Amino acid sequence: MYLFKKISTLIRFLESYRNKNRPIGFVPTMGALHEGHLSLVRQSLEATQCTVCSIFVNPTQFNEASDLEKYPRTPAKDLTMLYKAGCDVVFMPAPEEVYPPGLDTSVNIGFAGLDHPMEGRFRPGHFQGVAQVVKRLLDIVEPDKLLMGQKDYQQFLIVRHMARVLSLPTEVVMAPTVREKNGLAMSSRNQRLSPEQRELAAALRQTLQKAAKWIRKYPPREVEQKAIQALRQYPGIEPEYFQLADGATLQPAPDYENPDSIVACAAIWIGGVRLIDNMILKG
Ligand code: AMP
Repeated sequence: MYLFKKISTLIRFLESYRNKNRPIGFVPTMGALHEGHLSLVRQSLEATQCTVCSIFVNPTQFNEASDLEKYPRTPAKDLTMLYKAGCDVVFMPAPEEVYPPGLDTSVNIGFAGLDHPMEGRFRPGHFQGVAQVVKRLLDIVEPDKLLMGQKDYQQFLIVRHMARVLSLPTEVVMAPTVREKNGLAMSSRNQRLSPEQRELAAALRQTLQKAAKWIRKYPPREVEQKAIQALRQYPGIEPEYFQLADGATLQPAPDYENPDSIVACAAIWIGGVRLIDNMILKG
């Protein structure tokens, strides 16, 4: 496994793959790795000839300084996990490498409203920061495939939209959410939960599963209300949103017949930790 901290040496290394038309897969992460990240690495290893995983806690996608500060960082453990998984290349740049003074890395495209609801509503500026870092990293790695987790469904749609609008030569692939035994979606932020809070957090997935049943009986807005009420029953959980969205536009699903796909997306707080999850209900 090769570790690069500088863009110039990474680009030089990847040139040998590109010159031989050997496909490159890319898994961007913010570190504090878990099985969810490794599943993306494994999928990339199967589909391409060189897998690059980046570890970079991107400051521009945090809308709260304290959240950035508290974000877990476990670089030594991350490198061991990637080595054991068989990852080819790790890119761990410093912030000055990604955002050198004088370089305009902003992404000036519209997101067709995908950035407005849900995460966009509660984390203003978050997706601008995500698009900025992903575009910057794609310009550096120039991968054939970009692997992203379904756990961040809205992020996946926005990045895929960006790749299409900018005609980037990268296929954006969505991989399934990897979960703990109790159903909790794996997340770096789970490291900040106590064992009791981790058990409690399984209620998020359980409520998504209940919603999947409620859609047989109740219209979308009623299912959303029932889900919020159900989450509020758990002492220690504060729901932020629960939305049944059109899986393509992320607008509230008006009914179950018309949208080709429907996804239930939710965010909750447990203590000071914010967790998100989703479930595809149709399509
Ligand atoms: P992050 O380090 O949280 O920015 O995540 C990096 C990538 O891993 C993103 O594409 C996430 O969607 C994906 N990811 C995070 N958690 C999971 C999970 N539990 N299962 C699958 N993919 C995940």
